[in-house]
Amino acid sequence: MSKLTIRDVKTILTAPAGSRLIVVKVETSEPGLYGLGCATFTQRHLAVRSAVDDFLKPFLIGKDPHRIEDIWQSAWVNSYWRNGPVLNNALSGVDMALWDIKGKLAGMPLYQLLGGKCREAAAVYRHAGGRDEVQLEESVRAYMEQSYHYIRCQMGGYGGSEQSAHRRPENALPGAYFDPDAYARSVPRMFDHLRKKIGFEVELLHDVHERVVPIEAVRLAKQLEPYRLFFLEDPLAPEQIDWFRMLRQQSATPIAMGELFNNPQEWKPLIVERLIDFIRVHISQIGGLTPAKKLASLCEAFDVRTAWHGPGDVSPVGHAANVHLDVSCPNFGIQEWSGFTDAAKSVFPGCPEVRNGYAYPNDRPGLGIDIDETEAAKYPCSDGVPAWTMTRTPDGTVVRP
Ligand code: MG
Repeated sequence: MSKLTIRDVKTILTAPAGSRLIVVKVETSEPGLYGLGCATFTQRHLAVRSAVDDFLKPFLIGKDPHRIEDIWQSAWVNSYWRNGPVLNNALSGVDMALWDIKGKLAGMPLYQLLGGKCREAAAVYRHAGGRDEVQLEESVRAYMEQSYHYIRCQMGGYGGSEQSAHRRPENALPGAYFDPDAYARSVPRMFDHLRKKIGFEVELLHDVHERVVPIEAVRLAKQLEPYRLFFLEDPLAPEQIDWFRMLRQQSATPIAMGELFNNPQEWKPLIVERLIDFIRVHISQIGGLTPAKKLASLCEAFDVRTAWHGPGDVSPVGHAANVHLDVSCPNFGIQEWSGFTDAAKSVFPGCPEVRNGYAYPNDRPGLGIDIDETEAAKYPCSDGVPAWTMTRTPDGTVVRP
């Protein structure tokens, strides 16, 4: 039998639910044996495509797809300079695809390769929202009626934009204006309303989106203690991790952090000093399953639970990878869930399913999910330069997400 090698590497761009998704397909010398991986960096999808097509593909062709760890390590240092989000996402696409191939070769779903299930399914949380407390309460109740037990609560637009009492300066630049002080005042009010109306039986979460100054994050975490949040997410930006020590000393509100992280040096101090309760990295952003399983094990030793990032700009392939990790990690905490449109399900046969608030991986070999390239081509990525929300404070200063 001839030696198995990587024959081709392709990037597939598709947007069946609006977000620009990037999926990498690694084909092997064995006819019909291929793997899929998520490389989605929705704001810089063309840069990721170039990183895969122009650099990783020629680097990989002819290599042995069995050797996942060696390929990950050598690809990571191949450009000398350490990876940032573009190269990490590109590497993730390859890495997940190699794990998918390994599962197909073994005839086992990925969770079996990771040690087998230590739970049947992964509890998920959904996003409730509304313009005000009353609308938000309706949204929370709708998810409760669908048997969801964990619900993230936000008011206003992304990051909680709220009508500001401030006037804008003359010639203010266009953007989504956001008042951090009005936002910080609104959050305890919001949870006070929800706990009074719906009680404490359901778990509530909140995402600060790193949008307040550090001392306000400390005050907010303290003020939210009586409402017993499941977690408070991203109270501080990655640039502010020194502030976590003060936050921890001041408040017992559980903290989740990490969707903007790229590198182990960002998460290591938070974990080993026990400054957070949940790690929330975006798995493709850190380079794929190979670094994620190591991160989960590091967290296990320090009683930090996993809460992998799971928004709409993770492809269904990435969501499948999340769920395989979720059911096989002893220190799993919760899985963010955004659901799949019918169009996404048609492009990605085998999407993981949610029933009664739990996500189930499917039992097909590997990641258990496929891509229909003809369907994918029906949903091209939109033209133009994609950008994250250009948010400004009342005086016009850009807000760091
Ligand atoms: Mg978030």
